[in-house]
Amino acid sequence: MMLSKKQYLETVLTADQDTILKNYVAGEFITSDNLFDDINPVDGTLVAKVAEADHDLVNKAVQSAKSALKGEWGSIDVKKRCALLHAVADEIDRRFDDFVAAEVADTGKAYSQVKNIDIPRGAANFRIFADLIKTRPTQTFEMETPDGKGATSYVVNKPIGVVAVVSPWNLPLLLMTWKVAPALASGNTVVVKPSEETPSTATLLAEVMETVGIPIGVYNLVHGFGPGSAGEFLVGHKDVDCVTFTGETKTGTAIMKSAAEGLKPISFELGGKNAAIIFEDADFDAAVSGTVRSVFANCGQVCLCSERVYVQRPIFDKFVDALKEKAENIKIGKPEDGSDMGPLISAKHRVKVLSYFSLALEEGATLVTGGKIPSFGDERDNGSFIEPTIWTGLAEDARCVKEEIFGPVCHITPFDTEEDVVELANDTNYGLAAALWTTDANKADRVARQMEVGICWINDWFLRDLRTPFGGVKLSGIGREGGMHSLDFYSEPLTICNKR
Ligand code: NAD
Repeated sequence: MMLSKKQYLETVLTADQDTILKNYVAGEFITSDNLFDDINPVDGTLVAKVAEADHDLVNKAVQSAKSALKGEWGSIDVKKRCALLHAVADEIDRRFDDFVAAEVADTGKAYSQVKNIDIPRGAANFRIFADLIKTRPTQTFEMETPDGKGATSYVVNKPIGVVAVVSPWNLPLLLMTWKVAPALASGNTVVVKPSEETPSTATLLAEVMETVGIPIGVYNLVHGFGPGSAGEFLVGHKDVDCVTFTGETKTGTAIMKSAAEGLKPISFELGGKNAAIIFEDADFDAAVSGTVRSVFANCGQVCLCSERVYVQRPIFDKFVDALKEKAENIKIGKPEDGSDMGPLISAKHRVKVLSYFSLALEEGATLVTGGKIPSFGDERDNGSFIEPTIWTGLAEDARCVKEEIFGPVCHITPFDTEEDVVELANDTNYGLAAALWTTDANKADRVARQMEVGICWINDWFLRDLRTPFGGVKLSGIGREGGMHSLDFYSEPLTICNKR
């Protein structure tokens, strides 16, 4: 089912929401005097008005989350807690079309991506962490004591408490639930601050939580911006016990300063400037198709996207030509047109990406393809579309090779030896992901082990086993989430030493 924006507002959000996306605090949908616009980046029209939470409402949300820890949620057994999280996943599935329509309205992404990745993964996150917590191993240690009687030490995992979840706009439901699900599975309560660009699916999730009977105060939602708004109020709140954040590195720095005040544990998934490495022995067609995906997926707005592509010299020209051809065949357009690529998230973000397009030429790039705003002659001209873009010829210290752009763009550099490319790939302040393309298994393993990143793919990209650790090194993050790593982050271990 495909819904227009108007249908979405009329049918997807429950009647009492009117056309305002509200905060969800202490089990109530709450509006505000300050409304801001949620804009559809396909044509620049209004999706909804959004109620910005002020200081008092954020405080109320945190207090509600704190109280809920002492209520029914705090004493519920793991089996019942997990059954509720499965019910959340089932209800997302039941309202699948609503979630798809909401995510598409906010982001303008292709329907195929939202239907196959964003929403299914959003539901899967609840199932995976609900199942995982039931199989979490326990630790027991026996020790000898001078009196010969001995002692047993064992570890119990307790919730941390109130978790602040601050999330970005590029994969709104998926990335938000990636943190909400393990936090709830571990027995915490949450206050979520979704991106101001993509408030809809977090609001639908509040409806889901209410429908399935998640106790009041366990899931709270506050809308707003970062500095001087709900984001800053939340992460700096004294009764927030931990902060989990996905977004830009510079935002992470600001949040870390706030969190430092209360020595709050933090988990940060931040920006990237990821390398794709194509060796001359790679399966050429697979490497080209994989790199088209890794550069242009979601209009280049995935933290794992490759913005630096290194190709071994003997196949460099052929590879550039092939990537150019594929990039020029990407169908840009509306989500309902079966397009491959939608718009950037906003007009503001397009200004930023375009500034790099100009800068690249100033820095001496050769423009292989793209570099402009496409012209459609219809309402899409009011949207935030941009052409898939490829450059060659930049120096490795050019800002366009060093800074995260977060758009459908890459720079391709030739390399000669394995040693050279390892050095080039690691010569960045970021360290999130890398993708290697080669048919030499030994070389693949050797090079992968030298990558200074959190995840390195061999002959693929974006394939994720959710049990594995996920995160970045250097400016790309602090900590790891995924599988047991998430459960460890969202729990406080208590060691009990029992002397016999
Ligand atoms: P952003 O940092 O601008 O915003 C993310 C969230 O932080 C938003 O909800 C925003 O309102 C909030 N925020 C901003 N300033 C704040 C402050 N001072 N205090 C509290 N909250 C604040 O990021 P974005 O533009 O929404 O997302 C794109 C960025 O996210 C890119 O850099 C991308 O690489 C990164 N990202 C990383 C991962 C990962 O797993 N490493 C995944 C997705 C996106």
